[in-house]
Amino acid sequence: MSAPAATLTTITTQLVSAFEAAWRAIQQRHPDVPEVVVTFGSGTLGMKAGQTRLGHFAAARWQHGEKQLPELFISGEGLQRGALEVLGTLLHEAAHGLAHVREIKDTSRQGRYHNAKFKALGEEVGLTLAEDKTIGWSLTTVLMIGGAVRGVSMVRDWTSASSAAAISAEVGGGGARPGSVSRAPSS
Ligand SMILES: [Zn+2]
Repeated sequence: MSAPAATLTTITTQLVSAFEAAWRAIQQRHPDVPEVVVTFGSGTLGMKAGQTRLGHFAAARWQHGEKQLPELFISGEGLQRGALEVLGTLLHEAAHGLAHVREIKDTSRQGRYHNAKFKALGEEVGLTLAEDKTIGWSLTTVLMIGGAVRGVSMVRDWTSASSAAAISAEVGGGGARPGSVSRAPSS
């Protein structure tokens, strides 16, 4: 007996595929954005009460043969914000990726404060950024123009597939409820 075809399209496979496709689309438009290892997990573990980490870009976290690869982390709790907001997180992390590749210091205060160089990199990948006095130019918005729409449709393939909130809660360790996600910065 061969394995049922359903095993080829698990929730995990769909999740990873959607994010890899979206990241690839970002790289096609912005070739300096580096290859990453995509990871998922809880955005509330280790955070202060009421705060959720939406994502992070961490250089040299993974070893692949001789090569060190950065990590792209996406929190499960953040998925329930919907495709456009999740794309905003991906582009935010892509901007950190550009900073890493170009050796630009884009944050200070343990990565919390996003400086004017980050703002420029974010705008390069199509984000609109607003300033906050604690986290700097980290408040991220995606304008629905041109290529952004294409990227959103890729993420939406997964996020609206079915019961995204329930799935994201599972991915995030069960801590998330719809409406419980605060607008904490991605790092
Ligand atoms: Zn950031």
